Amino acid sequence: MSLNTANNVSAENFGVPEGIERVLVVTAHPDDVDFGAGGTIATLTDMGISVSYCICTDGDAGGFDDATDRSAIPAIRRAEQVAAGKVLGVTDINFLGYRDGYLEPNHDVQKDIVRIMRKVKPQLVITQTPERNWERLPATHPDHMAAGEATTRALYPAVRNPYAYPELRNEEGLEAWTVSWLWLQGHTEPNHWLDVTEKFDRKIQAISSHASQVSHLDDLAGMVKEWQKLAASRAGLPEGKLAEGFRQIKLPD
Ligand SMILES: [Zn+2]
Repeated sequence: MSLNTANNVSAENFGVPEGIERVLVVTAHPDDVDFGAGGTIATLTDMGISVSYCICTDGDAGGFDDATDRSAIPAIRRAEQVAAGKVLGVTDINFLGYRDGYLEPNHDVQKDIVRIMRKVKPQLVITQTPERNWERLPATHPDHMAAGEATTRALYPAVRNPYAYPELRNEEGLEAWTVSWLWLQGHTEPNHWLDVTEKFDRKIQAISSHASQVSHLDDLAGMVKEWQKLAASRAGLPEGKLAEGFRQIKLPD
């Protein structure tokens, strides 16, 4: 691999850390994981790593046409996410059912995320950056930041603390669990990348499963390819490569 050492990028800024058996992705809306990390998810499942999703809202404020009955949107969007998951090798998809546009990092949301974390027992959690991205405002939709903040709060300290949300342990038998790694998608300062050139077609297939959101776009593949070329160039990868970038955080042991 040819790397741009001028950016202080080295081999350890790429790939999947050792010891990862299970990964949990927490996002605000159906389609967020496919846009932000579809190639990464395909990479993980192809390695035999088990990937689960936790989708906080039903994306019920999404869409682009008035013809669809709005009350039908949650079921449509859940079904689209299930179809997209199949493309990338993910079948464990947990929908929290919060209202689109209203997500807050409150204790209800945090506790729901802790519950899923303790069930899945991931070594790596992928979520959306809780920090504002002024260069790409849509990446930091308020729901995205809320999902990222609630997930980060759940990671530290609640999921590892047996006395946080004690009813999860006392009534549901869910023991504390410590997660090792956090990857944030949409961050302005990524420091970790995956070369997902070979996974691009599956990523586009997964995104296309969200027909209620993307079927009106003329050049979906071209748009996504441009983002991934930019990420690859930032990572110092050679021309023609496609990448997905994250801010990687090693969580305390
Ligand atoms: Zn979204």
